Amino acid sequence: MYKRLRLRGLNRIIMNKIRVTKEFSFEMAHALWNYDGACRNIHGHSYRLFVTILGISETDENQVKFGMVMDFKDLKTIVKKNVVDELDHSLVVFRKAEGESLDSVRKMYEKVIVFDFQPTCENLVAHISDILIPELPEEIALHSLKLFETATSYAEWHASDN
Ligand SMILES: [Zn+2]
Repeated sequence: MYKRLRLRGLNRIIMNKIRVTKEFSFEMAHALWNYDGACRNIHGHSYRLFVTILGISETDENQVKFGMVMDFKDLKTIVKKNVVDELDHSLVVFRKAEGESLDSVRKMYEKVIVFDFQPTCENLVAHISDILIPELPEEIALHSLKLFETATSYAEWHASDN
């Protein structure tokens, strides 16, 4: 959609910027190294991830994506390949947790990911932004991410904050 505004006698076309969001989910185990609570033990969460992009709807009616900022299907493909498939059913740990304790764990888990950061909800959402930004088409901005670790706890990344 676009509006025509008559501004100082000029006929200007104003494009609407639109945010588009898609929800994803994945199961992931983690352990928080040196943490003073129950999350120091390996345990899992059902994560929910909301990916919001920002762009302008296609205005060329001859284009197959006419009226769309980005095809939901294309957004799904990018997020699934680069984030969901990587993290789903994995165990993620901070590199300092590597060593004797992980050797025995590796016998049970094939998919152990060692990060350079503590795998908190906050650090994970920032990491996901780093992964997704270069994967999006040039004309599409990553607006924000919301990562739920539990039904009532989430962390957000916003482009405008960073
Ligand atoms: Zn946890």
